[in-house]
Amino acid sequence: MNTNELWQAVLGELELSLSKVNFTTWFRNTFIVGFDAGQVTIGVPNMFTKAWLEKKYHKEIYQCLQTHTDNGIKTICYKVEARAGNPQVIPDRVDTVVVTAVPVETPQQPVRASYQPESTPAPASSQNFGEFSLNTKYTFNSFIVGKQNELAHAAAQAVVAQPGGVYNPLFIYGGVGLGKTHLLQAVGNEIVRKNPQAKVLYVTSERFTNDFITAVRSGQAKDFKNRYRTVDVLLIDDIQFITGKEGTQEEFFHTFNQLHQTNKQIVISSDRPPKAILGLENRLISRLEQGMLADVGSPDFETRVAILDTKCREKSFPLGHDVLHHVATLVQSNVRELEGALNKIIAFHQFKNMVPTIDSVRPILSSFQPASSRKNITPRQLIQIVAAYFDLQIDDLLGKSREKRLAFPRQITMYLMREEMKSSYPSIGLEIGGRDHTTAMHAYEKICGIVSDDEKLQHDIELIKQRLYAL
Ligand code: ADP
Ligand code: MG
Repeated sequence: MNTNELWQAVLGELELSLSKVNFTTWFRNTFIVGFDAGQVTIGVPNMFTKAWLEKKYHKEIYQCLQTHTDNGIKTICYKVEARAGNPQVIPDRVDTVVVTAVPVETPQQPVRASYQPESTPAPASSQNFGEFSLNTKYTFNSFIVGKQNELAHAAAQAVVAQPGGVYNPLFIYGGVGLGKTHLLQAVGNEIVRKNPQAKVLYVTSERFTNDFITAVRSGQAKDFKNRYRTVDVLLIDDIQFITGKEGTQEEFFHTFNQLHQTNKQIVISSDRPPKAILGLENRLISRLEQGMLADVGSPDFETRVAILDTKCREKSFPLGHDVLHHVATLVQSNVRELEGALNKIIAFHQFKNMVPTIDSVRPILSSFQPASSRKNITPRQLIQIVAAYFDLQIDDLLGKSREKRLAFPRQITMYLMREEMKSSYPSIGLEIGGRDHTTAMHAYEKICGIVSDDEKLQHDIELIKQRLYAL
């Protein structure tokens, strides 16, 4: 086996154990540079990947290499190296800071060529965009990093370090209130801070759509093109709402290409990965997937406590640890709810001039029941949400067909009924098209058995739950 074959075998194995996003993000453009006396050198396209592989995937890589070389490996090192088909190698200095979880002050970068004020008079700044301007409260400094968002955060920082570099576009996706807008705006704010000349444009996709329609109607399509196609950084929030509006998609496609070809940075957010956005044209999906996809998930308990603690300090309203923990236990779904709960607590206690205690916050938090004890969701609502999520007819979801595209969502529905509503197996069977209780049991056990290793499934379930709680 030559080194190329060896690496292909390792990649084949890694691909099975990682989500598609993670696999393509971290292993695209990697190869074996050399294999000598038990030392393997792996070539990677940039420092960011190097640090990530060292930190996150070293063990897996090591194990796979061992299996395929009869334990012939002593050490592995990672090296930033270009090769054909590996077009951009980012210099070390730029990227070394970006994988740290805590925001780090990056030394001022020299102004890069593409950022030189152009020869046109009066170089624009973000202020020129008036109503589009960024909200300065969303910064990297005020963003708490936990396991569920570290990839998106690190990628966003990499974009700031090297706008228009390898992570272009950066596509951040995840459920509501999990910090997507915050990250998009933080990228914009930080780029403007480092380079006040940079033209940064933040818009929601709805705004983009409306702008485009108005421009076309009033015969000012040219102005529209000028505005969108001459920016250095385009931040588009909630791209999922562009669905189905063909004229707008077309325009977005051309805007995207124009910016991408001239190495301008594009950062996009969505509630789901590109492929899952219904009605999005294939050519647009493949454009969106060609950069970096990073997801954000619900914060775990520790992160929720850290977020609460930080927000309390920002508001100069300290809460005791017991109260912080209590809030973090009760409010689980997303950061926006966490902030909402905190604001309610602060307002109430300031008004009454009281120090918050577990007893005094309890009534305020009564609406934030943890997922498992929610009683108000009906089986019908759950079925409707799952059907809508997978874009299926309810009759098909509950029907007899064993086609995988129906059977799998059906099993997820049964799993969620058990997990979220604590329904009995017979009642689940009854709700799901009058099935036997053993079918419900089997479905529940099957999903339990695969969910921990299947990131896509975890993500689907997470998003469905969020829709459920948003009811
Ligand atoms: P999304 O766009 O994903 O729906 P937002 O970015 O609007 O969510 O976040 C909702 C609120 O929660 C905002 O006020 C934001 O500042 C805050 N928030 C979200 N994630 C974090 C985080 N990791 N650290 C600090 N604040 C956060
Ligand atoms: Mg948002």
